Amino acid sequence: MIKRLQIFLVLIVLLSISTTGIFCIYFLNQYSDKTNGFLLASASELFVREIKTGTSYQEASEVCQAVFSEDSASLRITVITVDGEVIYDNQQDASKMENHADRAEVKSAISSAGTATQKRHSGTLGVDMLYLATYYSDLNQIVRTSVPLVFYQAGVHQLQVTFVSVMIGTLILLAGVSYIFTKRLTRPLFELRNAAESMAAANYSVRVRADVHTKDEIGALSSAFNSMAEQLEKEVRELEEKNLRLAELQDMRAEFVANVSHELKTPLTSIRGFVDTLRHGHIEDAAVQGRFLEIIDIEAERLHQLISDILHLSEIEGMESDLELQKFDLSALLDDVATLLDDKATERQVSIIVEDCESLPVLASQYRIKQILINLVDNAIKYNKKGGRVYIRATREPDRVIAIRVKDTGEGISPEHMARVFERFYRVDKSHSREMGGTGLGLSIVKHIAQLYDGTAAVESEEGVGSKFTVRLRIADDLQ
Ligand code: ADP
Repeated sequence: MIKRLQIFLVLIVLLSISTTGIFCIYFLNQYSDKTNGFLLASASELFVREIKTGTSYQEASEVCQAVFSEDSASLRITVITVDGEVIYDNQQDASKMENHADRAEVKSAISSAGTATQKRHSGTLGVDMLYLATYYSDLNQIVRTSVPLVFYQAGVHQLQVTFVSVMIGTLILLAGVSYIFTKRLTRPLFELRNAAESMAAANYSVRVRADVHTKDEIGALSSAFNSMAEQLEKEVRELEEKNLRLAELQDMRAEFVANVSHELKTPLTSIRGFVDTLRHGHIEDAAVQGRFLEIIDIEAERLHQLISDILHLSEIEGMESDLELQKFDLSALLDDVATLLDDKATERQVSIIVEDCESLPVLASQYRIKQILINLVDNAIKYNKKGGRVYIRATREPDRVIAIRVKDTGEGISPEHMARVFERFYRVDKSHSREMGGTGLGLSIVKHIAQLYDGTAAVESEEGVGSKFTVRLRIADDLQ
């Protein structure tokens, strides 16, 4: 591109300089012929005037030569009769010269009874000459003045040499200037090409430098390129993030499926084992049979609980927000849950204390809020000590937030486990949890329901002292 532009520029200049040159040389030639013709006419008149005053041909020609030019020898003066006989020539012996009647300039001077010029080769001198023949009627003679063409063409030639040198010089200068000019002109284009190539090689952070921004079309192209690059970079980044999230999601799904299969397999294996023993083990003792059936029942119940928790969790995960909203009093719900789990608490010698609070009108799915409370209080009973306590409390916070707190005086959770208890299937002590009928999904369900209500679930705990779970939900019903 830059080469073609340079060649094009040089060609244009070459063409214009040479056309100008050819015209100049042509007009210069014309001009010098005219000036020399005029000089020859003046010399002719001067010569005739001299001889009319009685001066000899020789003296008259010397006068003319002195006036005509510095190179006096170059002016030739010939006097010819109308018959063509040469009667005087300042450079040749006239008597030895042939008849000049056939010379073109002489012929036309006679026929027109005036002046005629002719540029031709001289038969007498053997060089190219410019002739001017004038017929003087009062003398009835032709006076012919002439000058060799080389005499003044040297000047023209000199001029041609000068001209060609100037042209070469100009061309060199022009090549330099056009090189710099085109380089400056094409620099932003180079910059753009490089940037486009980088971008094709997946480097989307590339930009065209600000200093190549000009106010013309190339400048507009540069800023258009930059905004395109910015847009592309943004979109690629978003796509990458999306892909990453998708990959994470897929990993999580795969892990979940593996966990679920594993969790389902354990009670099933147990059930099949006991069924097999009952069928082929020839156990006659009715008490043993009864125990085995009881274990099968417990395992079946665990399986049922597990499946219902999994279904529940996947249902909540698939929801953007809860739509089944209803108005109810949260403090009444706390009492209901305490009553519901009272038997279980008594069985484990744990007491449930619902801390006094005024009525708390809320707008939410009662079923899901109840699920949160059951899961938290159930855990607080399960992981408690004999004679332990469970405190339930709900308070109002700014921005329609209700904080539900379930505190126990149980075994507590060590710091390294605390951050993970809300993960699916995460259990601090697997066999202990199984023994208690846990699925490892209870807190995960709590966290997901909290998120459904623009909320959070957190835990504070001290090993051997107890734990405190706090769930914050944006459910306060202000209109009541
Ligand atoms: P699980 O069905 O095992 O109870 P959760 O998701 O409800 O499953 O709880 C996960 C784990 O967190 C439990 O296995 C237990 O180790 C721990 N955990 C939950 N609540 C408490 C609590 N109140 N005190 C001590 N540990 C708890």
